[in-house]
Amino acid sequence: MRLGTLAPSIAEMVRRIASQEVNCEEHVASKMERMPRMDRDVHAFLFVAKEEALAKAREIDEKARKGVKLGRLAGVSIAVKDSINVKSMPSTCGSKILEGFVPPYDATVVERVRAEDCIVFGKTNMDEFGMGNTTQASAYGPTRNPWDLERVPGGSSGGSAAAVAGSMTTLALGEDTGGSIRCPASFCSVFGLKPTYGAVSRYGVIPYANSFDQVGPIARRAEDLELLFDVIAGHDPRDMTSAKEERRKPKPLKGLKVAKVSEFFGSGIDAGVQRLVLDAAGKLAEMGAKVEETGIEALSSALAAYYIVAMAEASSNLSRYDGVRYGASLEKGSADWNAAFAKTRTACFGEEVKRRILLGTFVLSAGYYEAYYLKAQSARTLLRRGFERAFKKYDVLLGPTMPVLPPKVGEKVSPLEDYLIDVNTVPANLTGVPSVSIPVGFASGLPAGMQLMAPHFDEGTLFAAARAYEEATA
Ligand code: GLN
Repeated sequence: MRLGTLAPSIAEMVRRIASQEVNCEEHVASKMERMPRMDRDVHAFLFVAKEEALAKAREIDEKARKGVKLGRLAGVSIAVKDSINVKSMPSTCGSKILEGFVPPYDATVVERVRAEDCIVFGKTNMDEFGMGNTTQASAYGPTRNPWDLERVPGGSSGGSAAAVAGSMTTLALGEDTGGSIRCPASFCSVFGLKPTYGAVSRYGVIPYANSFDQVGPIARRAEDLELLFDVIAGHDPRDMTSAKEERRKPKPLKGLKVAKVSEFFGSGIDAGVQRLVLDAAGKLAEMGAKVEETGIEALSSALAAYYIVAMAEASSNLSRYDGVRYGASLEKGSADWNAAFAKTRTACFGEEVKRRILLGTFVLSAGYYEAYYLKAQSARTLLRRGFERAFKKYDVLLGPTMPVLPPKVGEKVSPLEDYLIDVNTVPANLTGVPSVSIPVGFASGLPAGMQLMAPHFDEGTLFAAARAYEEATA
């Protein structure tokens, strides 16, 4: 597929709609007409809200006619991951167990984009409850990579990244617990940000592992990524973990102290990915960044710690799906509720979800709690300290987002092999720091991404670096 031609910037599009040079309804109608052709092969969407999108577009045209000031995302199309609630659109989370569940309210992030006149095009496919990195673990079939339909788009926000990469929408919202925004951003050659934990509200977002989950933006341009982040970020009293902290003042790329973290280039890394990311680091140095190499000791236990804590939190979170309160129910009104719960859960959860509920329950059970869960939490603390020390010396940490190129759809790997490719993305979730994936080109015709991490609430520095790199390499 031929992709990658860039439409005008969002600011330019909003200006054209406001001045009535562009008719928003026509613009949305033509996008909505092209979308199904592309999505027949890609399968990014689980639900498309055509009528609602057109109605919103007419509303925007009306505002433009009356000279009412338009929002910062007026007429811009957005795809929303299926774990984020949009009023009156089904939320399945990629699971059969939520089939038929239609949330009666918008998540805060959706409220915020709508308040800026952004147009929700629909809900996107994902690995069931966010558990995966290929979008093949969706109960509704896999999504394919728009750059190469034989390949996966990454996951778990694979539908969101594929929608943006395939130009079906300009923007997308994803959710990242252990890499689910950055992995598909890397595999689909788009920008994706996992914000600081607490920077973006989780209200109305179906949880996977609460101490890691963050909603974030996906876009084809660094500038658009930043704009969407600006719109969705900020304190929300409806989310207990939402932060009130001010954002830090961004540092420019010139003079920026960048650490190439040696563990991020560890064994198993694809040679093509390594070359692209090292070249990109070289480019940052050419542009005035001070790039050095360093190690962060506790990083070696990050992956194990992540999978223990994430599964523990997931096993407790997923206990709410019992066939009574939400979605699918195979045995309505039965007095033997234990048998009824078991029947629905056995039939409606996928294999990977069940595996994680079992493992999560195991590491939390008496006798194993100390050996696994507590140990993993200690490793998490050590990693936080390791990052604090690193950020005393460096402004930004750098590595490949994914150590590999996008795998083929249907390629068989063991669960453990599958978990291993998250090795570079989970540290940002364990420590809560912001992390961006920046496209750095193609190896063997497949996209790769570079990951930059900054201290808490320093998204600004990541955007500055992403923009400078994009400008220099466009
Ligand atoms: N692949 C990771 C996992 O399966 C990340 C998931 C995510 O970020 N939602 O846990």
